[in-house]
Amino acid sequence: MFTAPTREQLFVLKHVTDIDELAGHNRFADATPDMVQAIVEGAGEFAEKEFAPLNRIGDTVGARMKDGHVVMPDGYKAAWDAYVQNGWAGIAAPADFGGQGLPFSLATVSLESLGAANMALTLCPILSVGAVEAIAHHGSQEQKDLYLPKLASGEWTGTMNLTEPQAGSDVGALTATATPREDGGWNIKGQKIYITFGDHDMAENIVHLVLARTPDAPAGTRGISLFLVPKYRVNDDGSVGEDNHVQTVSIEHKLGINASPTCVLAYGESGDSIGYLIGPEHGGMRAMFTMMNNARLNVGLQGVQIGERATQLALAFAAERVQSARAGGESRDPIAILDHPDVRRMLLRMKAGTQAIRALLYYASGQVDRATLGDEDARALADLLTPLSKAYATDMGIEIASLGIQVHGGMGFVEETGAAQHYRDARIAPIYEGTNGIQAADLVGRKMSMNGGESMRGLLEMITAEVEDSAPLKQLAAATGRVMQWMQNDASIDDKLGGSVPFLTMYATLVSGWLMARQRSAAMQELGEGNDPFLKSKIAAADYYIAAMVPEATGLEGAAMAGEAPLYALTAAELAA
Ligand SMILES: Cc1cc2nc3c(=O)[nH]c(=O)nc-3n(C[C@H](O)[C@H](O)[C@H](O)COP(=O)(O)OP(=O)(O)OC[C@H]3O[C@@H](n4cnc5c(N)ncnc54)[C@H](O)[C@@H]3O)c2cc1C
Repeated sequence: MFTAPTREQLFVLKHVTDIDELAGHNRFADATPDMVQAIVEGAGEFAEKEFAPLNRIGDTVGARMKDGHVVMPDGYKAAWDAYVQNGWAGIAAPADFGGQGLPFSLATVSLESLGAANMALTLCPILSVGAVEAIAHHGSQEQKDLYLPKLASGEWTGTMNLTEPQAGSDVGALTATATPREDGGWNIKGQKIYITFGDHDMAENIVHLVLARTPDAPAGTRGISLFLVPKYRVNDDGSVGEDNHVQTVSIEHKLGINASPTCVLAYGESGDSIGYLIGPEHGGMRAMFTMMNNARLNVGLQGVQIGERATQLALAFAAERVQSARAGGESRDPIAILDHPDVRRMLLRMKAGTQAIRALLYYASGQVDRATLGDEDARALADLLTPLSKAYATDMGIEIASLGIQVHGGMGFVEETGAAQHYRDARIAPIYEGTNGIQAADLVGRKMSMNGGESMRGLLEMITAEVEDSAPLKQLAAATGRVMQWMQNDASIDDKLGGSVPFLTMYATLVSGWLMARQRSAAMQELGEGNDPFLKSKIAAADYYIAAMVPEATGLEGAAMAGEAPLYALTAAELAA
């Protein structure tokens, strides 16, 4: 059972994203309150009815290979068709190409509901949206006309091909090649691994975006170009033509997200795989970043998806499961475990953690929308919030899923309840789209020095000024400021990288805590003298997050500033001793 948290989503959209302000701009004028409500509720209902019932079979049966192609579990193609027909794919896609041109923030909410219902299946739209972004920003008019309408509608799906066996975090090490053809296209050759939805039977065509090297390209990331390589070649009239020889070699057997086929793809092995350059030659990384930035936020959103689903499951279980009398209580009758203090702690942590990362993600999405309106400060903020959102939210997703198992006791460890699947599914999110270690390195590297360090300082100062009344947030802001100053002024590169992950957690917790405080004020105001359970619950979750979880982040100051010396006290051989 999954119930989309539509009231919570609408509340966060209003008080954190400030969707009404966004709708005041001409470009987003269609995002009227009625439209926002219709989309949030409609996506939630669709996710509950069409995607959620397939989550279990996706895990147990999973995607399989048959005769060189990927076959999805029963029901997936029908669910995908319904997703396309109901117009859920193109919420934020450009209106010129059949999309609805609505804010990215609204697409975020719909993806949250779909992914909470079925995280593995919802990876397919995440990759497709990234492909739309890359082509819309960097493709030629002809490429846009030919590919965007079908991608925006979901009739075709997209993939992102960076990884090769020797090129994971180090994308610059990739060796796939592209050689020019006489017809203006390129022959793509090489093997890509771990390609999400690299093959499947839900859509008529798959549009692969592939990083490769042209002849004599410089070494490293500077020599990489981006190519569009369709599974089936596309005729001038947009119809699907011959096979383009993108061969699915195998799919991986994984810990989780079993309904998401993770493919090894071979290009140009069984015949020519014809590709088309997107953007300028050697401009691949820039184009890929366009695709990756929003995909990183959407992967962060997977933490929210799992957090929501795992919390709902744990709450329902804890209300039913009866064990032991209440310690110190008068009655010796056993009670529902929900009323034992430690179970309360776990449940509140799950609820507050989920709400905190949802707020972080929705805030970041709002900045992405404001950036598209030409607001340069918002663009800088979106850049800064991207690694924070991706890493913190996915780490939190795992913690919540793990607590979900703990709440279930032994029943959590057996597969029957579904709690175990959430944990297994959640585990990938800190790894792909740039590991969380890489996100932290990006934070203390590029993002910390962006605009001469002003973006990071500016956000911290704004938050510090607004959390004056909250001792835990004030202390975290001060500790985060001390680490930031040390990193900006005194630390060596190794010092910074060694402390990057704890620093990221501190900064992300601060932003999330600030947004929880903001929601608390709004909820207090709406509640007045009333007794609305949703508003009371919102206030309690914010209080718990700020009182119990924020100080943990403050305690990371030492870890963030421990420096490189303890990390390199041992040689590699001694480390293994
Ligand atoms: C299920 C799944 C789906 C995926 N989908 C896609 C996809 O659709 N398209 C695609 O292109 N790729 C995809 N990937 C690949 C994924 O993005 C990579 O696995 C990821 O970027 C890490 O690369 P790697 O596995 O080679 O690990 P490595 O790069 O070998 O990293 C191993 C460890 O070392 C750390 N590390 C490496 N370099 C550094 C450094 N410089 N500084 C600090 N730490 C470092 C990492 O953080 C990590 O902890 C997918 C992977 C999986 C498992």
